[in-house]
Parts: sequence; structure tokens; C-alpha cells
Amino acid sequence: MTECEKCNGVGWYEVPNYRLECIERVECIDCLLENQFQDHLKLELSQLLCNASPQKLAQIVAELVVNSVNRNENDDLERIEGIIHTKNLMNALALGDTYSR
Ligand SMILES: [Zn+2]
Repeated sequence: MTECEKCNGVGWYEVPNYRLECIERVECIDCLLENQFQDHLKLELSQLLCNASPQKLAQIVAELVVNSVNRNENDDLERIEGIIHTKNLMNALALGDTYSR
């Protein structure tokens, strides 16, 4: 994904208002629309995925989490081992949630 040229991914940018002689913050419509589009995709895709089996979904999430942790040099695969050994579902879901962002 390329960074927005208008706001550099910040979500707003500054434009000079010559009449009031000040700098105004303007919300970036491009990014707003892009975010709305992505939210729409997430909702529609999750509704479609509701029809898949829990086993298949769990397998996909597990793969995503392990690959993401492995790619993150600040994280450690042993963290996942710990979660598995303690059967800590809450932590497993929290880990997936963190990496989904
Ligand atoms: Zn933007």
C-alpha cells in the first residue's frame, strides 16, 4: 500500500487561509473514503466468512498469527508456545486481535 500523497497518511493536512491569515487543518477526504471502503470490505468479508467452519477459520487465524509473530523481530514465537501450554484462549484472541491491526 502506498502512502497518501495529500496527507502522508496522517489523515489531515494544512492549508493557508489567506483571508483569515492563518493555517487551517483540513481532513483528508481521500483517506476518509479509503478507510470507509476498507471498513466496508471488512464487514462484507466477515459476513461471507461466517459460512465457513470454525475449524477452517481457526486454521487460517493460527497461520496468520504465527507468520506475523515470526516476521516481527520484536516478538517471539515462544510467546505463542506459552499461550498454547496454558490454554489461554483470551490471550490467543488478544494476540490475533493485535496482529489484525
Ligand atoms: Zn490522505
